[in-house]
Amino acid sequence: MSEVYFIAANKDVSLIDKLERLLEKVGVGNLNGVIALKMHMGERNNKTFVKPVYIKKLVDVVKQHGGDPFVTDTTTIYKEARYTGMDYYRTAFAHGFLPSYLGCPVIIADGLKDDGVQVNEQVEIAKSIYESDAMLLVSHATGHCASSFGGAIKNVAMGCVTKKTKKYQHEVTRPVRNPELCDECDRCREVCKLNAISEDHELIPEKCVSCGSCISECTSGALRSPEGMSENLQKRLAEVAHAVLRNLPYSKFLFVNFLIDITPFCDCGEYAPEYISPDIGVLASNDIVAVDLATIELIGTQVFEGDPTIQLREAHKLGLGELDYKIVRI
Ligand code: SF4
Ligand code: SF4
Repeated sequence: MSEVYFIAANKDVSLIDKLERLLEKVGVGNLNGVIALKMHMGERNNKTFVKPVYIKKLVDVVKQHGGDPFVTDTTTIYKEARYTGMDYYRTAFAHGFLPSYLGCPVIIADGLKDDGVQVNEQVEIAKSIYESDAMLLVSHATGHCASSFGGAIKNVAMGCVTKKTKKYQHEVTRPVRNPELCDECDRCREVCKLNAISEDHELIPEKCVSCGSCISECTSGALRSPEGMSENLQKRLAEVAHAVLRNLPYSKFLFVNFLIDITPFCDCGEYAPEYISPDIGVLASNDIVAVDLATIELIGTQVFEGDPTIQLREAHKLGLGELDYKIVRI
């Protein structure tokens, strides 16, 4: 049975003051050398990403225990304000992730465009994450419009890889079109930033990154998500998370999930804050499956769209972690 350590959100005591003890419980002293503190610094104008004040504290604790951390994430496949390394640096700095404040470098792990190390046919790990000595994975627990839940598994699978591998996972969410319902209004073509819809309104698979923007624009119902999307995407998340964690040249990982500002969607969007749960606290574990399952069960499975545990059962089958866990409150 895996242990998942828990500090509760409590208005009387700052979570920040408890983070050091949390990290010590999961063995922060075992992280040596260059440590990738992998997180999601938020799409531009997103308001609910894990804030720099928490990350600064985690950086301080890692450094006190002898580690040499850098804060990192990768570029997106959709064309917004984190599409290239340059875009992402501007967004990260605008959101307060400044090296001078954090006390460590901020490095976009796949470089200025798309720099990775191929570990199997589908999976390329972002170069700076591959070249680190250990990883502290900091995940913001949220719902997700395609994968039902986003936590540590998703942070590894989607967040530690290059565009090619992000695209591989998103393939199973590519919109399908019913030509009989299409009134040729052209709105899908206008909204698609990848020019992935032809003049006769067919999707061009090589160009489409499955961002879903065209579905939102299509009022006739001609475009929709594919059948089985959530299950298929969650299975790919587990497959890629497994490939990443088993092919990195190191095996020292700590998983920290923030159960605060819990939104229905991930931090890739610019949403007005809307919450599916009150703040709960922060969890940490050496077991990626256990930490995500504990996260879902503390939030409550009923608030997620569909079954959020498919990715965890799949990851467990692949040997990534345990579905049996106990929460240790500290
Ligand atoms: S938005 Fe929908 S209805 Fe309009 S052209 Fe595209 S597929 Fe057809
Ligand atoms: S075709 Fe639709 S889903 Fe694909 S990239 Fe364009 S807007 Fe996004």
